[in-house]
This record gives sequence, C-alpha cells and structure tokens, in this order.
Amino acid sequence: VKNDIANAPKIQPVAPKESKILYSAICNLFNEVEGTSSRLQIVKLCSDFLYSVLSKTQNDLVPITYLLINRLGPDYQPGLELGLGEGLLMRTISESCGKSLAQVKARYRELGDLGRIAQEARSVQPTMFKPKPLTTGEVFSNLQAIAKSQGKDSQLRKVQLIKKMLTACQGVEAKFLIRSLESKLRIGLAEKSVLIALSKAILMQEHDGKEPSSDLIDAAEEKIRDAFCQVPNYEIVIKTALEHGIMNLDKHCVLTPGIPLKPMLAKPSKSVSEVLDRFQGHRFTCEYKYDGERAQVHLLPDGTMHIYSRNGESMTERYPEIKIADFIADKDATHTLILDCEAVAWDKDRNTILPFQVLSTRKRKGVVAEDVKVRVCLFAFDILCYNDEPLINRSFAERREYLHRVLKPVPGELQFASEMTTVSLDEMQQYLDQSVKDSCEGLMVKSLDGEESQYEPSKRSRNWLKLKKDYLQGVGDSLDLCVLGAYYGRGKRTGTYGGFLLGCYNQDSGEFETCCKIGTGFSDEMLQKLYDELKPTEIATPKAFYVYSESAPPDVWFEPSMLFEVLTADLSLSPVYKAGSSSHDKGVSLRFPRFIRIRDDKNVEDATSSEQVIEFYESQPHMG
Ligand code: ATP
Repeated sequence: VKNDIANAPKIQPVAPKESKILYSAICNLFNEVEGTSSRLQIVKLCSDFLYSVLSKTQNDLVPITYLLINRLGPDYQPGLELGLGEGLLMRTISESCGKSLAQVKARYRELGDLGRIAQEARSVQPTMFKPKPLTTGEVFSNLQAIAKSQGKDSQLRKVQLIKKMLTACQGVEAKFLIRSLESKLRIGLAEKSVLIALSKAILMQEHDGKEPSSDLIDAAEEKIRDAFCQVPNYEIVIKTALEHGIMNLDKHCVLTPGIPLKPMLAKPSKSVSEVLDRFQGHRFTCEYKYDGERAQVHLLPDGTMHIYSRNGESMTERYPEIKIADFIADKDATHTLILDCEAVAWDKDRNTILPFQVLSTRKRKGVVAEDVKVRVCLFAFDILCYNDEPLINRSFAERREYLHRVLKPVPGELQFASEMTTVSLDEMQQYLDQSVKDSCEGLMVKSLDGEESQYEPSKRSRNWLKLKKDYLQGVGDSLDLCVLGAYYGRGKRTGTYGGFLLGCYNQDSGEFETCCKIGTGFSDEMLQKLYDELKPTEIATPKAFYVYSESAPPDVWFEPSMLFEVLTADLSLSPVYKAGSSSHDKGVSLRFPRFIRIRDDKNVEDATSSEQVIEFYESQPHMG
C-alpha cells in the first residue's frame, strides 16, 4: 500500500465558521456519560450523539471529536495544551459570576470541583437578556485561542475569552467548560470509547441510519483503530473515512513521514526459560535493551529530520546535533524514512554507554548543538517506512535487512542495536549478563518471521518480550503508577509527605484504581522535591474518577499529574486496594513497593493499566 496522505494537514484542526451543533448538545451528552457506569452504554450514548451530528453536518465532526476527548489537536502538535491553573479559573469565575473570590475559594474547599462551582454560580445569577447560545465550533476555536495565547497580556486575553463564554453558558455548560479549560473533563469517558463510537457512527451513516451487523461493527472498529495507530490524527482519519468509506481506511490512511505513529510495546517476562517456552517452534532474536529514551526518527521529502518521543511529542529541538543524513547509505535514493531507535547518553572519550540518569540531565528545549555536553548515540532497532512505503507488515527479519541496507552506522553516533540469534538457554543467559555489563537494562526478545513478527503500532505485544535483569526476582518489570494522594510525614519526615497513595489506570473506564501505599525508596531530597511539586496540586476532595476504599483515605488528595516508577516483591489480593476490582471481586495490590524514580516521559494515562496489574498478578507462580 502506498501512502496517499500527500496533503496531510500540517496545521491544527479548524472549526467551521458556521457551526451547526450547539455546545449544550455535547454538554448534555457529557452529563449523561458522567451518570453512566456501563462502558457499553457510554459507547452507545456517544455513537448515537455522533451519528446525530453526522446526519446534520460533516463539518463539525472533527472539532466535536476533539471536544469529546478534551484535546485541541493531535498530540504531536505543540502549543495546543490547556490545563489552566486553579487560581486563574477561580478569579475568572468570581469576576464573571458575581461571587467574591473568598466565596469561590470556600466553596472549592467543600466541593473540590471548579466546574460545579461555576455551574452553581451561573444558575443563581440573574441575566437581563437571554444570551445567544454557544456553538461547539465557537467553543473549540476559543479554546484553541486560549491555549495558544502567549506573551504579554496573554492572561488578560484568556480571562476575557473565558468570561465571554461563561456569560453565554446555560445549564450544565459552565461545568464542562471549566473542566475542559482545566484539561480534566474526567467523566469516565476513555479515548478508546470515543474511537469505537466514532467508527459506529460513521458506519451507521454509510448504512443510512440502519443498525449494521455486529461483524461489520467489529470490523469497522478494527479499521479505525489500526488507522489511528498509524496516523494518530483524528482530522485525517475522520476525513479519510468520510471520503473513502470506513472499510477502506487501510488503503488510504497509512504511515506518513512527519506524523509519529504510536510505538509498539513489549510484554514483561521473568526468565530466559519463560521466553523459550513462549517462542517454542518459532524463530526469534535477542537484542540489547538500551536504557535511554525512545526516539522515532522521521526523514521528510524536504530533507528535514524530526524526532518524536514515546508519546509522539517532538524532540527534534532536544537533539540538534543529530544529522540523519550522515547515517544514510545512499542519500540520492533515500527520500523518506521512519526509524525506531533508542537515544542513549554516550561517553565519547571512553566510547561507552552512560546511564539513563545522565541523559535526563539534558535540556529539553533551546539546545544549541555546539553547547551539548551529554552526547547521545542512537541505537536503531527497526525501520517502519522507506521512501513512503510502509514496512510494518513485513516480517522483522525483512525489516532488519532493510535497516542494515539503508543505514550506514557511525560509531558513537548511530549504531545498530546489538543482536544475537540463538535457541540455547545458556547462550541467552550469557547474553543477558553481557547486556548488563554493557550498561543495558537487559534484553528485548523479538519474533523474527511471518505475521507474528510484524510491527504492531501501539500494541503491547507478546511478539516482543522484555527481560530486565534487575526485575527478574520480582514480577518481571517495574510499574508506573499515578500519585493520587499522600500521608503526612512523621518524625524525621515531618514537614513533607511521608508516604503516597498510588493507582493504576483503567483504560476502559478512564478511572484510576488505588493499588498501594508507598513509603520506601525516597531520599530526604526526593521527599522535599515531591512535596514542592505535589503541594500545588492538592485538592480538597478526591476526583470522581478515583476508585479507592473509604477505610484508608490519605491525608491529602492530588490532581493526577505525576507517575512513580516502582518495584514490588509480588502482588496480592486486597480488601483495601482496588486495582482490577471492576472485573474481579477484590482488588490487587503491590506488596512492599519501593520507589525508583519519577517517570516524567509518560502522561498519567500511560500509567500501568489495571489489565497489566492483573496480568502481573496472574502470572505469579502460585496462580499456576
Ligand atoms: P512500558 O513500561 O510502557 O512498556 P517503557 O517505556 O517503560 O514502557 P519498557 O517496557 O521498559 O519501556 O521497554 C520498552 C522500551 O525499551 C521501548 O519503548 C524502547 O524505548 C526501549 N528499548 C531499548 N532497546 C530496545 C530494543 N532493542 N528494541 C525495542 N525497544 C528498545
């Protein structure tokens, strides 16, 4: 399949001038979703709503989809983040709703939800004229203007725009507008559900409103999910589906240099023999698992290079010294490329890998090539696209051959990931030990042939297993958990928090489920740093999307903003913690968790999922 997204939008999505859908319509949907716990029901509410939008107009579908997932454009487009602070919002609510700031603050301490406070304040506010109702297009454009507003007077401009909208809000609109501005809609509407709803709505429209068969619904869902993994841009996916039909998405919506795809992820494993069992009868290969930062490198037809992080954020500015052209074997024949690599800190004098901690001292923005002190070496382990031809459906053996043909390594700047193919347990064990001596985390073991070895964007796949030396004693891997609350420190820890309540993320419900309390592994400096960073995120009451037990509440709750990477000896069923409790009677909790580090290259929604926690639990020996 050749790529034909030649005119892929390089700019943010734009709402139509004459938006036909009222903002109240989407807010009523939010309100219904907030009161619904069944995921199937939530998907149905959303697909009915999106279908009703489509039967009126196609133009509003893109901004409405973004409003549903509470974003303003694709992840990889910088400058479209909202997340306005509480202070600014409280001031704006007070000024536009006729309440004193003290009143707003006092009420906030009671309710812990600025959205509800705005709604309350609006509902008792007398208005002389009935304001013109807000449209979704108007709200979307204003939100974008607010997100992009920078420099002198930007606060003032933001406040003015918010006030203008608040004055026009009726019913539940103020509640959701304020929550959108905070970037925390949090009504239990997971992005996954929106994507499914979208596929069903488009399919229904293709069938003139008739309910399609469940097979067709499943197939459409898969098409849209695959397309989105390759091209994580709702505007392109929606417009392509509307133009060519949802079942033809795979022919028109494929990897595009310049658009970061969602990277493939690995499943943890606990021993070499477990890996051998898994791959029995299949050819596989081992690679060093480098401890750096994922780097998806794109070469565009205009010769420019872009590097994207694991989250699809642009990191090009972070690595100005990397020039991809220096590593291409045949420059004249190579127009576009997408590579999957790990960027690792490199000691140029001793020609060795440096630990991850050294890499993390590099600045993120405004880096000047000449001033770079911590050098990086790219370790390339996959090629996903060459001269606009997607390679992800080829076998890994073929892709690796391509990689070696297309690139010309330069020691200490770009190298191929170290690899070894064997079926011997002893050789693998030795290679694992060697990887650690060479400053790596362990091994990545990958399937080599056939469909099983295709590159599966965004998927945590059994065809890639990670074998991390440090974690073989425990459950096989560390977990990345969201900090939901904290306990005040006592004794030596007085004045900071002494322990934290952590939770995993339920990707189906969009809720954080508690899974342990942690107080081990922190230095005094780290506790102080955590206090300074988390204190401003304290909230009066837990979020509605926190699932926890009333029996052991923390002293303070936080907005979800930070992930801890933690280690655990094992997992057990618990009457107090809630991980996975929506599908099991009891929750799963971590025993003897230990803090490793703050994980700031992941969003809170990228926390270890409830499903993974259950998998860790079930893979323990006593579970059989
Ligand atoms: P998660 O915990 O969500 O899986 P993570 O970012 O913690 O993600 P790991 O699971 O520890 O990552 O391992 C996968 C990561 O290992 C990749 O995202 C990549 O950054 C890194 N990596 C290093 N070497 C390789 C390799 N040879 N092949 C693939 N990935 C590699």
